[in-house]
Amino acid sequence: MTHPTGPRFDARSNEFTTYVDCHNWIGGEWVPAAAGGRLPVDNPRHGSVMGEVAMSDAGDVDRAVAAAKAAFPAWRATPMRERAKVLHNLRRIMEEHIDELAWVLSHENGKVFPEAKAEVDKGIECLEFGLSMPNMDNGGMQDVSRGVSCAVSYEPLGVCAGIVPFNFPTMVPLWMIPQVLVAGNTFVLKPSEKTPYGAMKLAHMLRAAGLPDGVFNLVNGGREAVEAITEHPDIKAIGFVGSTKVAKIVYERGAATGKRVLALGGAKNHLVLVDDAEFELATENIPVSAFGAQGQRCMAASVLLAVGDNVQRYIDRMVEIASAFKLGPDVGPVIDAAAAARMTRYVTQAEEMGAKVLVDGRGVQGPGGGAWFGPTILDHCTPEMPAGCEEIFGPVLSIIRVKTIDEAIHIENKNPYGNAAAVFTTNGHTARYAVERFQAGMVGINIGVPVPREPFGFGGWNESKFGHGDLTGYDGFRFWTRPRKVTTKWARQLDQTWMG
Ligand code: NAD
Repeated sequence: MTHPTGPRFDARSNEFTTYVDCHNWIGGEWVPAAAGGRLPVDNPRHGSVMGEVAMSDAGDVDRAVAAAKAAFPAWRATPMRERAKVLHNLRRIMEEHIDELAWVLSHENGKVFPEAKAEVDKGIECLEFGLSMPNMDNGGMQDVSRGVSCAVSYEPLGVCAGIVPFNFPTMVPLWMIPQVLVAGNTFVLKPSEKTPYGAMKLAHMLRAAGLPDGVFNLVNGGREAVEAITEHPDIKAIGFVGSTKVAKIVYERGAATGKRVLALGGAKNHLVLVDDAEFELATENIPVSAFGAQGQRCMAASVLLAVGDNVQRYIDRMVEIASAFKLGPDVGPVIDAAAAARMTRYVTQAEEMGAKVLVDGRGVQGPGGGAWFGPTILDHCTPEMPAGCEEIFGPVLSIIRVKTIDEAIHIENKNPYGNAAAVFTTNGHTARYAVERFQAGMVGINIGVPVPREPFGFGGWNESKFGHGDLTGYDGFRFWTRPRKVTTKWARQLDQTWMG
């Protein structure tokens, strides 16, 4: 019997381990890209090649879509409760193999094992929401006049597609898969070419969970595969998660060919620290938000707006905490050398423009010899500096000192992104004042990473999201379905109205 997670990944430490090549999963078979395209997959901790990933073209996308289209009629005809049973099985398999899944993730992405395990756990939580859909209200019925009823049901769209980033290779696919599948759609997923193994494991586990062939397909690759997805006439909806630049491209190209698109983009999250904040709470939460997962998460703190004259003791403590993070056990490598070079450029430029580097992550080397960049704190930044307004996507916290909460809110509001924002204060009125004014879809009070747990949907505002609604929770189910209204009458109506 084949192993439920596919080829076993045996590593149980960060010691470099090679893995299999990652092909495309189409109609229940692993196949290489037809034109032979492939790319090395680097382990960022070691800078060494784990295996290779298929680089697909439009022909590969077309084959995956054809398989998904062929599988759609039978899957849609499967009762929702049976569809959910597959997700129940997937949940069990993921729980049983959580360590293996977390180790694969830690090796392909670089995040440390506890963070990798937390990612798999959050993916399981998303799965739990999707598998519980049959127990929730999926429609409704009402007598709209005497003898006439109107009912609504949420119908699948057909073949749907997902395009995901490198930073959460297991969790972000699970923002989409449960609702897509439980609703009766079939799916083509395009993982990041930098981190294809999380999705490969999901394909194996979905098969082991009893999913019929063709319902879930993988096309690996990069831009060429994405462009083919945005243009394919048989794809009805696309969920995208990645940078704002690509989110806009996918949103516009997908909409131009009549697709429903929800595209989550990048972020520049502002945390407001008021000088009445609870000391331990603030100084523990803020560095974890900025430096956890190497700052490579769309919810990471990026700008700290320090309000008032008494913030110095908070900053001193955060400098101590950031300096104590150990590369290797506490902080992993960044995704690749190009990312480390980008982070270095931002910090050097800010320094040249007058910022003070309190903690310097440039040029550090962690164990393994891969791509490293350490926690960094920049003080006396301005919103005009690129480090003060652009997404760096690394462990860099830019401090901007302001006099008032209004000044802080003004700076937050002016930034075009709108993923997350948070305020640290012990004053309820200040908290409410800030929350009501932030231009962000996910807001925290005394929480540095205000990720909404299920069933609350995930999604930002402004340049951090293109399209309507959120990708997870109830909105996710609505996004991957369309309502059908059925109005019924079984006998002549005696009290006719003009609509009778
Ligand atoms: P990315 O935009 O470079 O890549 C995302 C996906 O798009 C990948 O599958 C990639 O292969 C593809 N792609 C890359 N360049 C493309 C192009 N020119 N044309 C078409 N497709 C292309 O993002 P990334 O570097 O993998 O991930 C980091 C980004 O994702 C950050 O900006 C981060 O904020 C964002 N992100 C956002 C959320 C959110 O919920 N808003 C969550 C996670 C990550």
